[in-house]
Amino acid sequence: MKQIAKGKFQVETGGGYFFPTAAQAEAWENNLKTFLAIEIPKTLSQDIYLKLCQKYGVSMMDIVKQGYGIEYAEILPSQGWKKMTQYALAYARLMTARAEAKPTIRPVMADYPSGRKLSCGHTVYTQTEVMSASLGSSCTDCYDRMSG
Ligand SMILES: [Zn+2]
Repeated sequence: MKQIAKGKFQVETGGGYFFPTAAQAEAWENNLKTFLAIEIPKTLSQDIYLKLCQKYGVSMMDIVKQGYGIEYAEILPSQGWKKMTQYALAYARLMTARAEAKPTIRPVMADYPSGRKLSCGHTVYTQTEVMSASLGSSCTDCYDRMSG
């Protein structure tokens, strides 16, 4: 649990669960564990999410359509453990889906897969790194020196 602002504590298990005191936030965290007898996994695949929703009798949420609500809703204990559980599970699923959607960085295509040794003494892997200096081929770092 962490303090967001004065009189506003957020629990670890979800985004939008705020409590006026640290003790209440801690009680929620402890109660959730006792109540559910589980810790909500940080990484929640769609399959596991479905199983946990069924197991605890909460309806699944549409993380695409309800994403904003899941992330920013302020669910209070007065709304019941079931609702908090529903949102905590949906929040874990939302965060997992978001992490999964991150595009993987594509490697730059090498023009010279095994490297090309230049007159300056350096080895480069792409055409754009090769410069033509008066003393021969050069990498961008050595261009001034090689332009003699
Ligand atoms: Zn060089």
